[in-house]
Amino acid sequence: MTDGNSIRKMLQQWTTQGEGAASQWMKSVDDKTRQALSLAHIRIDKGVLSEVAPYLTDHSCHSTIIVADSRTYEAAGLRLEKELKAAGIRNATVLINPNSLGDVVADEASIVQLLLAIQESGAELVIAAGSGTLHDISRYAAYTAGIPFLSVPTAPSVDGFTSKGAPILIRGEKITIQAIGPEAIFADLDVLMKAPSALVAAGFGDMLGKFTSLFDWRFGVLTADEPFSKLAEDMTFEALMSCVNAAEEIGRRSEEGIRILTEALIASGIAMLLFGSSHPASGGEHHLSHYWEMDDIRCGRRQHLHGAKVGAACALISKLYHLAGEQSPEQLRLSDTICAQWDSIRQAIQSIPRTEQLQEWLQVVGGAGTPDELGFEAEMVERSLKEAHLIRMSRHTLLRALNEAGATIDI
Ligand SMILES: [Zn+2]
Repeated sequence: MTDGNSIRKMLQQWTTQGEGAASQWMKSVDDKTRQALSLAHIRIDKGVLSEVAPYLTDHSCHSTIIVADSRTYEAAGLRLEKELKAAGIRNATVLINPNSLGDVVADEASIVQLLLAIQESGAELVIAAGSGTLHDISRYAAYTAGIPFLSVPTAPSVDGFTSKGAPILIRGEKITIQAIGPEAIFADLDVLMKAPSALVAAGFGDMLGKFTSLFDWRFGVLTADEPFSKLAEDMTFEALMSCVNAAEEIGRRSEEGIRILTEALIASGIAMLLFGSSHPASGGEHHLSHYWEMDDIRCGRRQHLHGAKVGAACALISKLYHLAGEQSPEQLRLSDTICAQWDSIRQAIQSIPRTEQLQEWLQVVGGAGTPDELGFEAEMVERSLKEAHLIRMSRHTLLRALNEAGATIDI
């Protein structure tokens, strides 16, 4: 169950449209659902960059725009450009400019830069060649221009490549806007294996965060009637365990390690698409990570990688939740509804690995295990534990319940 085999089968069958023996996931994901998700084609293998031009030709696409930054252009953009040219596809490439701190961010300036390039070139399709941020810029600009986009990730760093929502910075405030998902993904392992180790560690951190996000989802279902899908839960959990079991391979950036991590990130993204919200993949640890991100923005610091923050936040949330689990719900002044479910909640807390174990896994892949290692100040981190739930008030996490009850837990 936890070696990633059914995840792999699902992803392969996504593209082969149900040929061969259907995996347990695919029984629930029929052609109609795939179309509804508008994600028609997933390729994860060595050399699949070369399949982009033939795919476009098959789909009668004659003009494209490649979106990259200077680094991802070297990693994939340049080769794509040559292959499109050889196939007779007209292409314009736009390199998104970094901000004054040197970061490429999904803000109004980047979006307008791309929109202008789309208008000028008259492109029929956007190819996002790069990181999660370049995908967010592309998905929103493509959506606004009314054209589709293709995903060519250059690092296995986040689970948001397939997302339909674009987190965008508008006048320094981060909001998530509805946009579109990619119509196809070409994840070339030759490219992904060359990604910087920090990006690989971040992708692992984003996956590790599923331990606490899956717990918080259960908590919301038990105490606040939040919606639930066993399929999305199983998919996310299997993707998570396949990464944990391959932590050393991932840390070594071997072909198998990068393949497993990439498959897991894409599967986690698909679980969110199938469920229709980020419940499976985002709980208290993501709320902490968003809080820390806003602190970076407010202080004018360079951005930390999303998954690096999520990994360290997951280890911290695990500590908080295990400490909460050692107390009685009355001691914590939790509501009657929560008290009534405490046995099940306590049991679910036991299934979250301990902080030390999570930190050990992070260390194996070269990721930070604490917010301190990431350079965040203790005072801000303490404040984030009290306030982070306010970021997403529609979610009923244990973090939120503890804060609303005014529970004092000495972490
Ligand atoms: Zn994430």
